[in-house]
Amino acid sequence: MGNADNDSAVGAVSPSLPRQEDGPKDRLHVVRGNDRRRKEPALVDHEAEVQSREKSATAREDAALLREDAALLREDASNLREVAARVREGEAYLREGIAAAREQAMRTVEAGQAGSDEHMAKLREANSHLVTATIEAYKLAEQVQAAQVQLDHLARHDVLTDLPNRLLLNDRLAQAIALARRQGKQLALMFLDLDRFKYINDSLGHTVGDQLLQLVAKRLTACVRSSDTVCRQGGDEFVILLADIEHTADAGLSAQKILTALVVPYFVNQHELDVTVSIGISIFPNDGQDADTLIKNADTAMYHAKASGRNNFQFFEQRMSILAVERHSIEVGLRRALERCEFVLYYQPKINLHSNKIVGVEALIRWQHPERGLLLPGDFISIAEDSGLILPIGRWVLREASSQAQVWRQAGLPPVTIAVNTSALEFGAKGFVENIRRTLEETGLEPCHLELELTESVLMRDAESSNFLLHMLADLGVRVAVDDFGTGYSSLSYLKQFPIDTLKIDQSFVNDITSDPDGAAIVGAVTSMGKSLNLCVIAEGVETPEQRAFLVAQHCDEGQGYYFGRPMPPEALAALLKKGLPAPPL
Ligand code: C2E
Ligand code: CA
Ligand code: CA
Repeated sequence: MGNADNDSAVGAVSPSLPRQEDGPKDRLHVVRGNDRRRKEPALVDHEAEVQSREKSATAREDAALLREDAALLREDASNLREVAARVREGEAYLREGIAAAREQAMRTVEAGQAGSDEHMAKLREANSHLVTATIEAYKLAEQVQAAQVQLDHLARHDVLTDLPNRLLLNDRLAQAIALARRQGKQLALMFLDLDRFKYINDSLGHTVGDQLLQLVAKRLTACVRSSDTVCRQGGDEFVILLADIEHTADAGLSAQKILTALVVPYFVNQHELDVTVSIGISIFPNDGQDADTLIKNADTAMYHAKASGRNNFQFFEQRMSILAVERHSIEVGLRRALERCEFVLYYQPKINLHSNKIVGVEALIRWQHPERGLLLPGDFISIAEDSGLILPIGRWVLREASSQAQVWRQAGLPPVTIAVNTSALEFGAKGFVENIRRTLEETGLEPCHLELELTESVLMRDAESSNFLLHMLADLGVRVAVDDFGTGYSSLSYLKQFPIDTLKIDQSFVNDITSDPDGAAIVGAVTSMGKSLNLCVIAEGVETPEQRAFLVAQHCDEGQGYYFGRPMPPEALAALLKKGLPAPPL
């Protein structure tokens, strides 16, 4: 091409031709292994609740990553489109060049009837241009085709795993539904979500996370038939379409095969990784007539698999969807509750077991729902956490409780420490400590009269950053209590290291102290451990005089529970503070 005649159209094309190896391939971006987080039905399993909180903690971050991924893919696709356009342009030039060369040849033949040497040379030259241009045009056509194939593939596959993406799944699912409907057959859709993938991503980094996702994708593909479709939905979520099943139970067998295959450890960058998966299954036609419904219901069933202890599969049931609708309506209501001032705080007294005096109160939120009446935190806190609404709600609770404590002080009531519950999402949120500092400043509450209650799992999730935050709180002079102590996993060495003030023994242990020797032993041991670490020990859920007597005998510092007083509105608590508690039985 390079030595083509300068006047010819062919020669003009050459310098601007795109080289395919410089093209979009180099600019493809690897999609991060982000794990999507979102709503989960109201469920009983504590572990699932914890998991749900963890999921919500990164919901917005993940949504941002997904948006980023989508933008990168769009960029890649547009690059490819550009290349294809440029190649097409080149092809058009070449065609013009060929036509021009052909014309020139004709002219030469006409002009050179006498067959002079000069004319013959021109004819040969024109001919050689024609051949070169034809070869070039052919090459360009091939490049256009290759770019088009690449573009089509990219649009319908996941960049990281090369599995089909949602777009391709939707096509295949629509076809499979149409076929199953015509043939009166069933099909199954599985929604898979890796268990605790976020821990791997967070602790070992996205590169390890991404490699793990690629290995998982390979194992999944190996588990199913070639007629089935394994698709990556995004993050650590996969969907499998079993296009043709005889019986519903067949989907269960496939799910079990996947669970067994995935449980074998993975080796990535010298790390041995254990990953399990939770699977939800929906069946056409019983659980949905269209693609969206089948995916949504399989997703709902997957969350029930998580709630049932993970590493298992669940078939969709109608009741699951009722729970999901219920959750949605709570979430919608929560969004308006703050603006409409529908939240109220109740206060429960904490008693010094030796002096029998109220030394603190715990602020416990209630929602005065316009239709449902007074709702307890169990009805809405986990949804507030999942949706991120816990952040503005938490800020409201802190301000309201701090102002209330000041109102009591100014009314001349005995000073009490005010305890505020703090969710995982709040603790890790940007500006968390700064908001506390500002609230204290604005309400005038002394920092030593504020205590934050944090659960063990929140503190232990990322011990290093917890330690950092706890030191910032200690510098501020704010107290910290470990709530529900005994229900999570605490590392004793961290417990010693963290600047905390109080251990709050969970009510499940207190419940047992007078009926179960093990319960009594646990409370006794935790009390003496707390005291040896110089911590204040408080028992929650004290309901009977016997429980109180046991705690006093164990030298437990404080007690909280229905025996001393239920959570109550601020006026009632003020009256109790004024009057004091009745003398304990001897
Ligand atoms: P928690 O922090 O463990 O609070 C103690 C719970 O035990 C409260 O339930 C309280 O009413 C209840 N309780 C107190 N004494 C007794 C007793 O003697 N027997 C029994 N059976 N229960 C007792 P509540 O108010 O329903 O709150 C439930 C949970 O909701 C709280 O558990 C806390 O984790 C969360 N929560 C409450 N308010 C807030 C808040 O403002 N922010 C956040 N993030 N969470 C909150
Ligand atoms: Ca608490
Ligand atoms: Ca508690």
